[in-house]
Amino acid sequence: MKIAIISDIHSNLEAMEAVAEELVNLSVDEVYFAGDAVGYGADPDPCTHWVAENADLAVAGNHDFAAVGIIESDSFNLYAREAIRWNAEHLGEEEARYLSDLPLTETRNGITIVHANPSLPEEWGYIFTLWDAEMNFPYFEGELCFVGHSHQPVVVRMDSDGAVSIVPGDSLHLEEDSRYLINVGSVGQPRDGNPAACFGLIDMEKSEFSLIRVTYDVGKTHEKMSELGLPQPLADRLLEGK
Ligand code: ZN
Repeated sequence: MKIAIISDIHSNLEAMEAVAEELVNLSVDEVYFAGDAVGYGADPDPCTHWVAENADLAVAGNHDFAAVGIIESDSFNLYAREAIRWNAEHLGEEEARYLSDLPLTETRNGITIVHANPSLPEEWGYIFTLWDAEMNFPYFEGELCFVGHSHQPVVVRMDSDGAVSIVPGDSLHLEEDSRYLINVGSVGQPRDGNPAACFGLIDMEKSEFSLIRVTYDVGKTHEKMSELGLPQPLADRLLEGK
């Protein structure tokens, strides 16, 4: 079985459609969504609709809950706050309800998904350092936990002795005696210097994990956001993936 884990679409329809096409090419069996369908971008409604239709498992991101008024957007920067207001106004009733009903964490097939971190998912703290990652290992069951939120893909492994390290590269064999905390990057707003959409793929039979990059028409997304009057820095950052 092949499972795709996607996160942080952020209303970027062009990136999401390119990823959706790749999921078909890769013959993916299940799709798990780690949160933030909306925020920042120009297409909250179709992106939420796609998640509702296609995700076998889904959790809420902070932008999802901010767009539907479950949490405040006070902690967001000025541009993100402006975009969340715009996104809230352009979200259909059914889509808003779908986002409101999303849980904070889910587990299926031994895989946990959560947007920010498994220890305190409702506080939306980032996992930025190896120490942050290590602190979170006791808070999920099973071998695999997937997160989003920072938009920076990274694989952290804990071996049978409890030693924690970053696994370099875009693909790896999942060791039987190890547990993994993996950030799958962002579909719609990558921040690791690569503007291509990013998501994770597990082949359960082969015990393999890969980060997949998909190029899309980022110029089109940039133009659309500019024309609609969304904050220009949010459009510009997509061009460089930062
Ligand atoms: Zn995000």
